[in-house]
Amino acid sequence: MTKYSRLQKDINGKKRYTISPYIEAGFITPDNLIKIGEIAKKYGGGLRINSTQNISIINLKEEDLESVWKELDMKPVIRHKYALKNIEICSSNFCRMSKYPSIGLGMKITRQFYGIELPGKAKIGVSGCKNSCISAYSKDIGVVVDGNGKLFITVGGIAGLNPRSANILVENINEDEALETVKNILSYYNKYGKSGEKLGNLIARLGIEKLKKELLSK
Ligand code: SF4
Repeated sequence: MTKYSRLQKDINGKKRYTISPYIEAGFITPDNLIKIGEIAKKYGGGLRINSTQNISIINLKEEDLESVWKELDMKPVIRHKYALKNIEICSSNFCRMSKYPSIGLGMKITRQFYGIELPGKAKIGVSGCKNSCISAYSKDIGVVVDGNGKLFITVGGIAGLNPRSANILVENINEDEALETVKNILSYYNKYGKSGEKLGNLIARLGIEKLKKELLSK
């Protein structure tokens, strides 16, 4: 079963694969952490903590992939080609800079929207203050706590090749309004996005005003 794996390298026909079990919002139980380590060791794999708050098991052989997934008994991070594939949450509840304990909101967003299919790959960042340690401004959607403890939402950030600065969509909102806004942004993306198109490129194509107008009319 190579479906939930990535080809990591192919040197003279010697292929090795990487897999990433889903770790909800970067929180993992000690038992699951030990299990991942033991299974990686059993199959000669290595571990890598990646930038998406997940752990990858690397250097696996193709013939071991099915057994590894079976023994892990965990869902994969990526289940569809185009989906909401990551929600990163900063450590706001444990941080002295925080203006609001936003981990709970991040978990609500994760549980409500993680994995939904979209026109392109998308990420959300949730930050407890404007420092945005998890780079919310370069995510497709950023949910950030302002200096006054209220939330604001950014849209259309793109990192990597052809980066794009996010637009501020709405400010001075509360948790419930933030959840509703995230839902509406994702609906808008599904309605107008072309296959493979990033949300930021959709906004560049149709204009931020159109998105604002549609959201405000709800
Ligand atoms: S974004 Fe702000 S609240 Fe969150 S970890 Fe960074 S400094 Fe702390």
